[in-house]
Amino acid sequence: MDRYQKFATSGLGRRLVRKLGLPDPYPLRRDAALATPVLVGGATRLPFLEQLLTGPAPYGALVFDASGIDSVSDLRQLHDFFHPAITQLGPCGRVVVIGRSPDSVAQRALEGFMRSVGKELRRGGTANLVYVADGAEDGVESTLRFLLSGRSAYVSGQVIRVSGTGPAGTLEGKVALVTGASRGIGEAIATVLARDGAHVVCLDVPAAGEDLSKVANAVGGSAVQLDITGDPARLTSHLRERHGGVDVVVHNAGITRDKTLARMDSGKWDAVLEVNLACQERVNAALLDGDVLRPGGRIVGVSSIAGIAGNYGQTNYATSKAGVIGMVRTLAPVLAERGGTINAVAPGFIETKMTAAVPFVTREAGRRMNSLSQGGLPSDVAETVAWFASPGSGGVNGNVVRVCGQMMLGA
Ligand code: NAD
Repeated sequence: MDRYQKFATSGLGRRLVRKLGLPDPYPLRRDAALATPVLVGGATRLPFLEQLLTGPAPYGALVFDASGIDSVSDLRQLHDFFHPAITQLGPCGRVVVIGRSPDSVAQRALEGFMRSVGKELRRGGTANLVYVADGAEDGVESTLRFLLSGRSAYVSGQVIRVSGTGPAGTLEGKVALVTGASRGIGEAIATVLARDGAHVVCLDVPAAGEDLSKVANAVGGSAVQLDITGDPARLTSHLRERHGGVDVVVHNAGITRDKTLARMDSGKWDAVLEVNLACQERVNAALLDGDVLRPGGRIVGVSSIAGIAGNYGQTNYATSKAGVIGMVRTLAPVLAERGGTINAVAPGFIETKMTAAVPFVTREAGRRMNSLSQGGLPSDVAETVAWFASPGSGGVNGNVVRVCGQMMLGA
């Protein structure tokens, strides 16, 4: 908990927060249990929704299947279902709207509804929209489990597309590569993927070797000291020779070299574009060309809110992170042909050493300018990566999901 959050959750703090309408950073639930009971509405076509535990209010979650909505007048169903129920949603409640496809007037309208609900929810509540393509009804379970659990604590206001199905099971017996794994978000990703059963190959620059070994030991994985900007053949041979290939690749390593464009030398531009984007393209090509990424393999990129909204002093960084989104879009069909997926997370303000170094006022603004009025944790990003990587998410391809507490910046 940050200092303001501690104050806001104390007796006097709570009274002041309410009276003055100050940001209210409710302590988030981050466990794996599903938010229950669930009130389900709409003409449901998803078998998974029938398995959910229903019961009387207060509700843990409100799930509305809006797949049948295909005219503007049908949208009234949203009001009719949510209006009486929304005040009966418990703390850290979940709102999930299910659609069919954003390619019609009424279905596209669901986004505006969901995003506004997300901004109105209090006490750590989140709202998200899942478009489930025809034929992908059985592929939605991993996504709904994620969204209905505490693992999606900092994911709100997001639109997710599920376009196929995936096998059941865990990451047991799978090999996952995480770059930039010696600290911060990378360390959290390695920890969560190992928890889910993967053998994690933790990669970082030689200068971070000591911390890297600690992380690799802690997660029962292995450490590779390598600068990711080098020849990708070194990495692919390592993965092939030591592990027989790789199942999950998380491009987490990233750097910033901030300056306004007028003051940015070409070295700062090149360094950021190289680490955050160019080398990832080369690694992907080497993994795919050499079939080192096994069939059904997953690639996960780490973009940033800056890549969506842009940011002062970060032309180089935002360019690279928007490029990561382009990488997801262009490679999604290629991965789909191999039974795999590529997706990206776009973190907002995450509490790491990097953001602790940001000046106080900017840091406070970053923390509070979102629907949850607080920063996210590295584990929030890691859980989102783990959902993309899980075998059951085989139908989740080509998505960019912000882990930003529904930050006010960007679309
Ligand atoms: P961090 O600086 O703590 O960690 C980055 C890691 O990448 C470091 O361990 C570093 O040694 C490693 N790395 C850098 N260059 C490398 C190279 N050439 N080869 C191998 N490893 C290299 O950063 P973090 O806050 O944990 O961020 C992780 C990722 O999340 C980055 O891609 C970052 O851009 C992104 N991100 C972070 C935030 C945030 O709020 N912290 C927000 C948005 C996006």
